[in-house]
Amino acid sequence: LNVRYEQLTSRLTSMGFEENLTHNFILDQETSGLIADEYGFEVNYQDLENLGPDLKPTESKDIPEKLLKPRPPIVTIMGHVDHGKTTILDYLRKSSIVQGEHGGITQHIGAFSVKTPVSKKLITFLDTPGHAAFLKMRERGAVVTDIVILVVAADDSVMPQTKEAIKHIKKTGVQVIVAVNKCDKENANPDKVIRDLAENEIDVEDYGGEVQTVRVSGLTGLNMDKLEESIITLSEIMDLKASKDKKTPVEGWVIESKTQKGMGALATVLITQGTLTNGDVIVAGGTYCKVRSMKDEAGKIVKQAPPSTPVEIWGWKELPEAGELVLQAKDEKLAKQVVETRQLRASKEDQVKDIESLNQMRMEEKKDVERREKIEELKKYGLDSSDLEGEAAGSGGGSASDGSAGPVVVNYIIKSDVSGSAEAIVESLENLGNEEVKLNILYSGVGAPTESDLERAELANATILLFNVNMPKDIDNKAYQKQVSIQQHTVIYHLIEAVTEELSSKLAPTI
Ligand code: GDP
Repeated sequence: LNVRYEQLTSRLTSMGFEENLTHNFILDQETSGLIADEYGFEVNYQDLENLGPDLKPTESKDIPEKLLKPRPPIVTIMGHVDHGKTTILDYLRKSSIVQGEHGGITQHIGAFSVKTPVSKKLITFLDTPGHAAFLKMRERGAVVTDIVILVVAADDSVMPQTKEAIKHIKKTGVQVIVAVNKCDKENANPDKVIRDLAENEIDVEDYGGEVQTVRVSGLTGLNMDKLEESIITLSEIMDLKASKDKKTPVEGWVIESKTQKGMGALATVLITQGTLTNGDVIVAGGTYCKVRSMKDEAGKIVKQAPPSTPVEIWGWKELPEAGELVLQAKDEKLAKQVVETRQLRASKEDQVKDIESLNQMRMEEKKDVERREKIEELKKYGLDSSDLEGEAAGSGGGSASDGSAGPVVVNYIIKSDVSGSAEAIVESLENLGNEEVKLNILYSGVGAPTESDLERAELANATILLFNVNMPKDIDNKAYQKQVSIQQHTVIYHLIEAVTEELSSKLAPTI
């Protein structure tokens, strides 16, 4: 603006900005725009939505009716712990091998397809219920699953997590089939389960409702074929359709991702639209992939993946995050541009977040200083500083009598091998800290630490926590120069311990 600091601040004060006037306060877009305008500049706001080319999913109305063909249902399993979710999934997975469909032992890629014994139709099961990826997809309002199998043990009936699952089912409006499990057990009481479910607003067919209930045993296989057929029946009623035509751009979701020695980044993608073929280019979040090869859950190479098929894909430039939407780009050039647009947008959004958290810290510091000054003032007049309590409301934790105001904030950045572990670490760390010491995770991500991680750590005085990722030599050197602390861990428990110790060390010693 070419004005002196004092002039600027007095003008800002007259504009009503005195609240956050410190020399190091970073102004947001709106405020800086207002000020520039006040000084007679023409303001051009950069729109985060229009930074460059990007991809969007094809709207269903834009897919020609005649291309839409029935597709296999995508099914997930929910229920209380120990009610038999894993057992049922294992049974289904194994049964697909017994049928001789696949030659080998199934690999865990996050999803698998099963051919039903009677109707010979396909069902796709997601075998990572409660996975962080699904929470993320749900947050974005994406419902990948068509049908939820609600598993309830016949010897235990409706339990807290059953109720949680029911809440989710009601909220998303997803279709449900009840599997009353463990019916082989002597003390099984499936009638009670059905009664309890009815009381919990599941409209069971046994009481004239629409929700199918099947009495199964994941252990013995009792009625598992019936369960599969009821899924098919329901999916036919639902009239699930997608286009597998090559002209329809491919869409899907990243279900899982990992780095594998000698292969680099691998990701399981569940295709929901179009047919993915070797050589196609797809974008997921901030990375893209020219498909080099694809494998199914039996480890078998496949050349094409039509809708509802889960495939492990090789050829990613960088590891995509589980829960990301996958969209096809017409060529690599466009994919690169789209990734650039998204990275630019993400870094701008990060900058905004950094600024917000820095400002927050500065405001707290400022309040702290003001508070201390007031306390000193009161002392001069022989008054007790507890008189300040009402006045200083909102200055954060810390009791007024000891003169400490606002908690110490310890910042962290987390980088880990796979997105699942990053989420798990964030979850377990979030509960740490107390009124005096607050833990703040600036962000978490997948992969080795980068220069931009270092810069941001330096800016916010944060510690970088690495989990199962290697430290590049140059980053190590730079971190040393910048005095940024980086910790490497391979055991989550040790990581949590180290953080706990660091937080405790910041606590004021008790007298
Ligand atoms: P999850 O926590 O819901 O995945 O439950 P699991 O599949 O791990 O099952 C919990 C326990 O119940 C295990 O010991 C299983 O062997 C047992 N179990 C699961 N299904 C059945 C069943 O149909 N019958 C019997 N008798 N035991 C079962």
